[in-house]
Amino acid sequence: MDSGLYLVATPIGNARDITLRALDILTSAEVLVAEDTRTLRKLLDIHAIPLGGRRILAYHDHSSPADRAKVMALAAAGSVAYASEAGTPLIADPGFKLVQDAHTMGICVTAAPGPSAVVTALSLAGLATDRFLFAGFLPPQAAARTAALTDLLATKTTLVLYEAPNRTADLCAAIAHIAGPDHPVTLCRELTKRFEEIDRTTADALATRCRAKAPKGEVVLVVAPMMGKTAEDSDIDSALRNALLTMRVKDASEIVAGAFNLPKRQVYQRALQVAQDNADSNTDPNTNTSDS
Ligand code: SAM
Repeated sequence: MDSGLYLVATPIGNARDITLRALDILTSAEVLVAEDTRTLRKLLDIHAIPLGGRRILAYHDHSSPADRAKVMALAAAGSVAYASEAGTPLIADPGFKLVQDAHTMGICVTAAPGPSAVVTALSLAGLATDRFLFAGFLPPQAAARTAALTDLLATKTTLVLYEAPNRTADLCAAIAHIAGPDHPVTLCRELTKRFEEIDRTTADALATRCRAKAPKGEVVLVVAPMMGKTAEDSDIDSALRNALLTMRVKDASEIVAGAFNLPKRQVYQRALQVAQDNADSNTDPNTNTSDS
């Protein structure tokens, strides 16, 4: 194996979610470095990878510049595999400074890509994925969290947030406050694990649910883009008029709400109005609907 730093993505729950290449690298690297040495040791055991006298060094958020220099020296001289505690290194996990130093020092750095909670949650959330913004953990203090959320929601992209279970209620309440109680959100809990749960709901409903009982395990919250209300009104009406040509109000509003990532109740009210306007114009004696 060539010398350099190999970033190895590891499972976020299900131990079998690891690539063949990741297993090859963990088998062959001369030195193993891990955010949590016990977790990596366990993973090696599960996949019957022998340590064979190799060292597992610890490298985490509290490691010193000297620790980093040591990893760099090892990667300059031989192959070093680095794994964070779970998922992809550097994604809300340590490794950034290692990669930065590797580039600066001309040390080869490559990755064995694999699981990450951000992509897993996005693919399951049922919210728009064409543009998204991953913001990791927001600050826990209420004022800082509200400021961060206000900026993030203004980007009008789907947001992917990591959160501690006991803070999920406050996070959802803050989203409801800024974007409205019906704003669509999806709770993605315990991904790839036995009690995996995907709850596609609204900010207010999820805040209430999590306030009554904090979710257990690990949590990702996916938040629908906050659409500019006035700018899209005419688009929504036009989509509703089209949909109402072939559908009932309920179905039309569900389809349009999904397409625009808007709360169903809000679009349903609009659909009722559009349907009423259609009916009025069809019965208006002044409206000439004949071809003559
Ligand atoms: N590096 C990891 C990745 O690639 O996703 C993220 C590490 S970060 C320290 C841990 C956070 O990721 C958890 O608090 C949770 O928000 C999210 N997470 C990790 N695994 C998860 C899972 N199986 N289900 C839901 N969220 C998960």
